[in-house]
Amino acid sequence: MIKSLLIANRGEIACRIIRTARAMGLRTIAVYSDADANALHVREADEAFRLGPAPVAESYLRTGRILKIAKDAGADAIHPGYGFLSENADFAELCAEAGMIFVGPPGDAIRAMGLKDKAKEIMQQAGVPVVPGYHGQKQDDEFLKRKAYETGYPVLIKAVAGGGGKGMRRVNKAIEFDAALDAARREAQSSFGNDRMLIEKFIASPRHIEIQVFADNHKNVVHLFERDCSLQRRHQKVIEEAPAPGMSEELRAIMGKAACDAARAVGYQGAGTVEFIVDGEGGLSADGFYFMEMNTRLQVEHPVSELISGTDLVEWQLQVANGEELPKTQSELEINGHAVEARVYAEDPATEFLPSTGSLALVDFPDGVRVDTGVETGDEISPFYDPMIAKLIAHSDTRKGALDALKKALDETTIAGPKTNISFLANLCEHPQFRAGKFDTGLIDENLDVLTNAGGDSAALIACGTIAMVKKEQERLARKVQPGSPWAINDSFGGVRTLTYKYLVDGEACSSVVRFDGENIGVLDVQGKLITPAGGAKIVDANSHIFVILRGRQIKIEPYVASSAASSNGASDGMVRVPMHGKIISLSVEEGDEVDEGDLLFAVEAMKMEHAVIAPIAGIVSELAIAIGDQMGEGTIGLKIEAGES
Ligand code: ADP
Repeated sequence: MIKSLLIANRGEIACRIIRTARAMGLRTIAVYSDADANALHVREADEAFRLGPAPVAESYLRTGRILKIAKDAGADAIHPGYGFLSENADFAELCAEAGMIFVGPPGDAIRAMGLKDKAKEIMQQAGVPVVPGYHGQKQDDEFLKRKAYETGYPVLIKAVAGGGGKGMRRVNKAIEFDAALDAARREAQSSFGNDRMLIEKFIASPRHIEIQVFADNHKNVVHLFERDCSLQRRHQKVIEEAPAPGMSEELRAIMGKAACDAARAVGYQGAGTVEFIVDGEGGLSADGFYFMEMNTRLQVEHPVSELISGTDLVEWQLQVANGEELPKTQSELEINGHAVEARVYAEDPATEFLPSTGSLALVDFPDGVRVDTGVETGDEISPFYDPMIAKLIAHSDTRKGALDALKKALDETTIAGPKTNISFLANLCEHPQFRAGKFDTGLIDENLDVLTNAGGDSAALIACGTIAMVKKEQERLARKVQPGSPWAINDSFGGVRTLTYKYLVDGEACSSVVRFDGENIGVLDVQGKLITPAGGAKIVDANSHIFVILRGRQIKIEPYVASSAASSNGASDGMVRVPMHGKIISLSVEEGDEVDEGDLLFAVEAMKMEHAVIAPIAGIVSELAIAIGDQMGEGTIGLKIEAGES
């Protein structure tokens, strides 16, 4: 019997596991890196132990240290969450050898599903349909190119060790193949230390539909229906829902059985997800779904399955780990209503979703939805880990009801500090194609401009912020003068006057003409007319600066200091800065090179994603301050371009 559980993870999933473990009466033990010493999962656990410095290799991936802590602390079991060690077969076996329960499948099952090529092989043998293509041993470039040709363009090149959409490239025609293979290999090598690739036919109107399976040690296997995760950006899930729009009872039964067969084929135990790619052209059909891979862990999006099936999947995991039978048989499981989950990230849709780190001045979620989060007001989004802030999950009798509830919750969520994708998620909830249930994995890319438009009237938001800043300044001054002095009164001696204030608005210098009329303060537009401040905007005071937040859109207003004025990305002075904390992974120029505006200069990898930096102006590369492999801080100068005709 598990009495004490060590959670070898962080963030929202650690907090979520702690919640169930506590409800089951278990003692909870957290582990943390230096960056997480004060994190919510540490505060919520009964005990917490330090792993090491912030980088994951020195903390959350340290198998030996985690096992030792577990033993010393008297834990009976380790829950790995998702990511980190959750699909590490060696770790699962190390736990078993040490007499520690690993809350997950046996090492063999993880290994069997760990590589996409081998998994496809096993599935083919078990009679589960797989995507046509090549998943063999031969890896030379020309051979793979021929296989792509035989499969028929467009194809996907996929890293066999891939995950999270990394090491994957779509290739539309032969001429693009070599470059794509190169890029996929480089990404796969740096992310997974394995650059073996497979080739798959690119499914024309692909939908991502996955089946939640569960198996115990008594040969029982059930599925808890499907999730539709077709809303993706760069092959990463953005919004997930259950059940899948357009899914029939018959097809659900067929796919559910295929998923259970897949689990049985590898001697599975615990929670797992079998991912299928479904050809959505002309609706879902029994001959149009293919096995993609099996994830041998709890998924990020598991809450939607919990809400429609009325189960706690972490509780099931712990029961199975205890050797108990599954709490329900297939016929006892049924779907109740519809659930949708949105992943709220600290990233800026306006700058191609660059992760946005920093302190959270305010985190405030509304009632009416389930919120799984690992942060609270005052916590940090650090550059070391996935910048997810929270998952909002809405449940209702109908799909429309769930989407309406999710949209409302997003609108009412306030996150101040790092930029977030909230307005993007809210736009998605309203998108007519998504609403109609007629979408595939291309929806986001095809509608990126509409979806990333944060909406809201900038002038009205800035007016709100300006008024708040001016009032703050007045309060500060009022504290400095004698009570009763005419200077202590904000009415400018009873008259009307205008003053120009200069602030930094999202880092850009911005002047506002402010009109004082008695107690009323207003901001004038260029024609001298009063701007109506944005109604319903929230002002969050973060001492030196303030945030104005309206329906997920956030602007930051701070005092203007000449030296801080942004020529920020260096567009005007030719200074090209590294946009974020990360490692330089490619460099396309040398000192003295001539570049055109828009040319690729270098790429930086941060939070496991590549970000390309392009030339803001044409000219000559004059000061090169970076080399491949350098770890650079956000905003440091990468190189300089001397403007010139080119
Ligand atoms: P990863 O393990 O890196 O997440 P997956 O194999 O799960 O990679 O694929 C991620 C996503 O890529 C899928 O959800 C789907 O949107 C898309 N995808 C994968 N294979 C195909 C394919 N053959 N055709 C079209 N899209 C695909």
